[in-house]
Amino acid sequence: MSETFRTILCIAAHPDDIEFTVAGSVARWTKEGRRVVFCLVTTGGAGTNEYPPDGTGLVPRREQELHEAARILGVNDVALLGYQDGVVEPTLGLRRDLTRVIRRERPDVVVCSDPPVRYYGNEYLNHPDHRAVASAALDAVFPSSETRGISTELLTEGLEPHKVKEVLINGAVPPDAWVDITDTFEAKCAALRAHVSQVGKGEWVEPLLREWATRDGKAVGVTFAESYRRMVL
Ligand SMILES: [Zn+2]
Repeated sequence: MSETFRTILCIAAHPDDIEFTVAGSVARWTKEGRRVVFCLVTTGGAGTNEYPPDGTGLVPRREQELHEAARILGVNDVALLGYQDGVVEPTLGLRRDLTRVIRRERPDVVVCSDPPVRYYGNEYLNHPDHRAVASAALDAVFPSSETRGISTELLTEGLEPHKVKEVLINGAVPPDAWVDITDTFEAKCAALRAHVSQVGKGEWVEPLLREWATRDGKAVGVTFAESYRRMVL
C-alpha cells in the first residue's frame, strides 16, 4: 500500500466479518500509523439461535465484542449503520448510507468483500448480507461518492464528493494482491476470539485462520498473508 495513504475504510455486513477476513492487514496498517475506520452495516442480531429472534440481548453484546476487537486491532472509529441482520439488500438507501460514511471519513482506500461470490469450495455458501453489502459498497465508491448529482441530500448535509483511490476486495477468486500479516497474525486471532457470542471458547479460531493465512502466504513466499483483488481507480 502506498506510503501516502492515511485513511482506510473497511465496510462489512456483520460485527465479526472483518476479523474473519482482513484483520491481520488492519492491525498492520494501524501499526504503520494509518487510520482505519470500520463500517458495519447490520447489528449482528441474528448471529446465533441462542437468543430471542428479535435480537434482544444479543445486539448490545455484539456491540461490546466488536468494540473490543477493534481496540485489539488499534481501530478507534467504528460506524454502525444498524440494519437488521440477515435480510440486507443492495438498495439505493444502503448505497446512500455507505456514501455518507465515505464522504464523511474521506478514505484513500476502501476494503470490502466480493459481491458476485455465491460460494467458496464445496462447503460455504456465501451469506446474502455479504453479497448485498459488497455490491452496495462498490457502487458507493463509484459512482456515488465522487458524483455531486447522486444522493443530493448528502450535499445539504455538508458532505461534498470524495474520490476513493483504491479498493481492496477480500475473498476475490483469484486474488491479485497480498498483505503480509506474519507479524499481526496473533492480533487477528485475538480480535476474532473477542467475538465470544460467535466463536465460544474459540479453540478452532487459530487453526482455521492459520490454514487460510498459510495458503495466502504461500502465494507470495511469506509465512502468513491475506489476499485481495486490488482496484486502482
Ligand atoms: Zn458475516
